[in-house]
Amino acid sequence: MASDRAIRIQEIAEEIRNCTLCELCRGAANPVPGAGNPDAEVMFIGEAPGMNEDKQGLPFVGNSGQFLNEMLESIGWTRDDVFVTNVVKCRPPGNRDPLPDEIMACGSHLESQIAALDPVMIVTLGRFSMAKWFQNERISRIHGEPREVGRRVIVPMYHPAAALHQPSLRETVKADMQKLPMILDAFKQKARADLETQQDNSQMKLF
Ligand code: SF4
Repeated sequence: MASDRAIRIQEIAEEIRNCTLCELCRGAANPVPGAGNPDAEVMFIGEAPGMNEDKQGLPFVGNSGQFLNEMLESIGWTRDDVFVTNVVKCRPPGNRDPLPDEIMACGSHLESQIAALDPVMIVTLGRFSMAKWFQNERISRIHGEPREVGRRVIVPMYHPAAALHQPSLRETVKADMQKLPMILDAFKQKARADLETQQDNSQMKLF
């Protein structure tokens, strides 16, 4: 039986497929809501669908997707262990960068997905998703550095496509990926310890 999260993620996907909030819906063959495990602890957020993604209605299925899959495999994860989506869900014409008003229009869908999945860790792929949390930062400065934001840890990484276009970035992206399991474990341990401290403190107040 599908979990409540899976049902909600499907509902959001349906809203995205019917969305006309910005002009990008006009040129898109298939909106790309996202894919993966709705009960995942880790969510990857890229930029926008490309040509292959637009054809199939699935995220990260071209060369970037293949590289992402290889990197996940290198840390013992698969696409079924994580949830993958983009900042904008419809393909910008000619693979141009998404515009600020398109990112803003599509933001409500991303927010709904984050709320439904409630991931422990969000990995941003590229500067557009990084900017959702760290507007004035440079990806070259903060890639691979985990930052606690509310109840989650956010890890900015380069987009896999950047590593494919600039071979010098390839090892950097791979090295950042290697850190993810350790960052996730450390953050979960810290969250558990924080919760225990809170519980101890509330019990002390009873006496
Ligand atoms: S890009 Fe997002 S906001 Fe724009 S039409 Fe597609 S789903 Fe709607």
